Amino acid sequence: MNKFHSTRSTTDSLTAKQAIRKGIADDGGLFVTDALGNANVNVAELPGKSYQQIAYEVLSLLLDDFSEQELRDCIERAYGAQWSDERITPLKQVGSDYVLELFNGPTCAFKDVALQILPRFMACTKPESDPNEQIMIVTATSGDTGKAALAGFADVPGTGITVFYPQGKVSRVQELQMTTQQGNNVHVSAVDGNFDDAQTEVKRIFGDAAFAEQLAEHHVKLSSANSINIGRLVPQVVYYFAAYAQLLEAGKIKVGDEVEFVVPTGNFGNVLAGYYAKRMGLPVRDLVVASDRNNVLFDFLVSGTYNKQRPFYETISPSMDILVSSNLERMLYYLSCNDPNLVADCMNDLREWGAFEVPEMLLQKIRHVFNTGWANEDQVREMIADCWNKHQYVIDPHTACGYFVMQQMPRDPEVPRVLLATASPYKFPRVVNESLGLDATGTDFECMDVLSKATGTPIPAMLRNLETAEVRFRDDVPVAGMEQFVADSAAQL
Ligand SMILES: *Cc1c(COP(=O)(O)O)cnc(C)c1O
Repeated sequence: MNKFHSTRSTTDSLTAKQAIRKGIADDGGLFVTDALGNANVNVAELPGKSYQQIAYEVLSLLLDDFSEQELRDCIERAYGAQWSDERITPLKQVGSDYVLELFNGPTCAFKDVALQILPRFMACTKPESDPNEQIMIVTATSGDTGKAALAGFADVPGTGITVFYPQGKVSRVQELQMTTQQGNNVHVSAVDGNFDDAQTEVKRIFGDAAFAEQLAEHHVKLSSANSINIGRLVPQVVYYFAAYAQLLEAGKIKVGDEVEFVVPTGNFGNVLAGYYAKRMGLPVRDLVVASDRNNVLFDFLVSGTYNKQRPFYETISPSMDILVSSNLERMLYYLSCNDPNLVADCMNDLREWGAFEVPEMLLQKIRHVFNTGWANEDQVREMIADCWNKHQYVIDPHTACGYFVMQQMPRDPEVPRVLLATASPYKFPRVVNESLGLDATGTDFECMDVLSKATGTPIPAMLRNLETAEVRFRDDVPVAGMEQFVADSAAQL
């Protein structure tokens, strides 16, 4: 059976279920398994398989302590009628490249792919030692995670969820998506601070032993729905294979041909899943890390120095406004040939000095797998217009970062390029309208109507209906008040 331990030490030996339930290791590291890559998906057999079948193949290799029935149930419930496309992540040709749409789930962002299934995994992980144990999910969100997690966990038995978002730093639509969430086990609060402040505090709360003890008395255990949870990362590996399957089915590639993926990146979860896919046998040429103006990853991949001491920009792609990319830690672990001491030293330096540097040899290896680029906000706006004008395809500001980076790179006609589209343009209708030269003076909802009329594309009902949905949550806490808010939420479980 696959065993999971921290990126920073090898003392733990957890099954996948235990790692999912726990979320993050006691030493602050992320759960990894040294079995990654021991078993491969057979890409020759992908064509003709449904998304759900591909999901079963991928998930059963990594989460091998789940029974076949458990996995099939989780998959069936997570990837059903709540998706507006039966292929779940449809691949569309856009010019001579491809776009993999990851936003056809219930909250219109790619995080649905993972967060529709994570709660179902969680429900399979109840320990025999304490069948009364309840899980309280605590998550900091830069915009999309929060809503996708709320939608996934709402009213799932044995769980509660508390979401914090940075006040004034998510779009109006994103905020309404969260504050109108239905369900008896959901809690939402704004935080006075930016995303990193909130995420750092959530990580600290997870490590607070006294708080954990206090919650344990009430049979409550904290867990994470951020992409640090291995149960969130693994479902994302699936769509890389699904993209490859669709290229094979369309006759665009032959088995074994390499494909390049361009990935709008923030916390490094999406692109890391691509690396997992590569390790599990997917023929991947390059994984391209596309950043917005917060280009800390670009600088790292170019120089080998990760330095979070830099200005933080609030951009029109808020879900990528991140200075500390949590999942980078997993990449460092694997590319250093599974060296937890190296990872621990890097993370220690990051905490103490705000920066770390990797050895030149390691940087070379990293650059062999990951290419990189970034787009400023003017370029993002230009690309939204460019993609519409050239291809009659509307992209959101996050996807547009990737689109820009893709245009900058030399194109090898032999290697298909797949851009991962991470959000519906209707989540950011004002910026999209401004970019397309459409009227953007009204409310976000009026902007949606204008955009739909001008482009002939449908507005996802779930977004349009927010205008009249009842706001249930109006809390706003300082960073220092987050722990108490979690305690109050847990008391209601
Ligand atoms: C979360 C998110 C990203 C970044 O994904 P990571 O896995 O954090 O790198 C990009 N675009 C959108 C729309 C997102 O919601």
